[in-house]
Amino acid sequence: MLCFALALLLTHPLQDPSPQRESYSGSDLATLAGLDASAAALTLSGGQSAHWILPAPAPARSLGVWWHGGFAAASVELLDAAGAAEAVYPLAESADMSAASAGTDRPAGDARVSALTHAYGAPVRAVRLRITGPARIADLSLIWIAPPGGIAPAAPQPMPGGAARGYPKPSVYSRAQWGADAPQCGSGYCNTTHLGFHHSAGASEYNSSSWAQCAANVRAIQDYHMFTNGWCDIGYNYLVCVHGDIFEGRAGGDNVRGAHDGWNCGSMGTCWMGYFHTPYHQTLTPAMLDASCELGAWKCDQQGIDPWGSSWYAGYGGSMTNVYGHRNVSATACPGDLAYSQLDTIRAGIEARLSGGGTEVILDNSAAAFTGSWSTGTSSGDKYGPDYRWSSTGTSRAKAWWTPDIPQAGSYTVHFWWPQGANRNPQTRVGVRVNGVIHAVTVNQQQNGGRWNAIGTWTFPAGTGSLVGLDNSGPGGYVVVADAIRLVQN
Ligand SMILES: [Zn+2]
Ligand SMILES: [Zn+2]
Repeated sequence: MLCFALALLLTHPLQDPSPQRESYSGSDLATLAGLDASAAALTLSGGQSAHWILPAPAPARSLGVWWHGGFAAASVELLDAAGAAEAVYPLAESADMSAASAGTDRPAGDARVSALTHAYGAPVRAVRLRITGPARIADLSLIWIAPPGGIAPAAPQPMPGGAARGYPKPSVYSRAQWGADAPQCGSGYCNTTHLGFHHSAGASEYNSSSWAQCAANVRAIQDYHMFTNGWCDIGYNYLVCVHGDIFEGRAGGDNVRGAHDGWNCGSMGTCWMGYFHTPYHQTLTPAMLDASCELGAWKCDQQGIDPWGSSWYAGYGGSMTNVYGHRNVSATACPGDLAYSQLDTIRAGIEARLSGGGTEVILDNSAAAFTGSWSTGTSSGDKYGPDYRWSSTGTSRAKAWWTPDIPQAGSYTVHFWWPQGANRNPQTRVGVRVNGVIHAVTVNQQQNGGRWNAIGTWTFPAGTGSLVGLDNSGPGGYVVVADAIRLVQN
């Protein structure tokens, strides 16, 4: 029966690319699984499990699920035409997708709603859905979202940051860059007094390997918010991907009111794309933390917000810490334990940036020492300074290192700048040596060029006893680039 269903869907014509909903009653699911279908609801006892392969009506990229009922555990695997799955992801309920998150917006219904799961390979033609009991499902719907068209510009450029005065706004990718749909309503504005943080609960989003994939994920979240919940636009004001790129959310510009925590008026809602909680234990990357601090420093400076303080949150109707997680104002695990525990880091990072204590040390390649074979390049437009050095992988060992003069002991976030290119080593080893201990991190120099990329935060002693560097180890046939480093005190 499953093969028959797959054969049918392969000949199914491409339909409207907007999200499509496929609904199953509890007895439909029981019938498909060969279980007792006499009851209206699908019922599984403790430890009992069932699975289904349910076809997509058209080639799809992302899947969300609505259901009435509950289960002990459930998972989804997105399948391509050959039946191959990319990965198993939990079917995780998303508080941000619930009707309550939008506040005044009307939800599509009272169903429980999952986060999205995205596929990065071939188009999706079906899902393998597993449910483990005890479970009772009255009905279940699959929300299939097609691959977005026309949102992968060859060279995506963030909107230039900066401001005439105050702490500069970080670079943000505009709605046009990620191919946003037009909003279905006008924009409302509140005086922003708070910064609210969320996670998308979308574990697959953390596994994105490119800007284009992240942009398509943002677009899918917008489709899901608008179609599933009937919201007029994507709910968040900003979204931050695993690479630390910041995407503009709800239309309307600075201080527009979003739909993200059920209260909204007075809060700028930022979503970390990933699942920062058991069972996936994804954690905010240094780049995500850095982007969040930059965004927060800009907004706190603009609005006079104390990142450590509390104040009246108008929408909420009470006092709230000025930097908060979704769970502080609603009954939800959002933004996940492993992200929630970073809020003090973000408060401190904002404070450091605004106090001017965020001492910055920048060293170009001219300040670096080199061993092994290095050439000088100038052709890449996204270089830092007049030139950069490069060395081939798969040849004898070559190293480049900087010896920053740390003005005062403390916590510093280390950034690397490189010009990107298709011939760059996707597994470039960069790192620091602090107090005699080497901490190495792998970065992909094929992307995220022309910007500062945070690789980690360490506690440095004052003086010139520490090193920051990279080498040409890794797979052969590539080049590594040594261009510039930056240390920012936290
Ligand atoms: Zn949330
Ligand atoms: Zn990204």
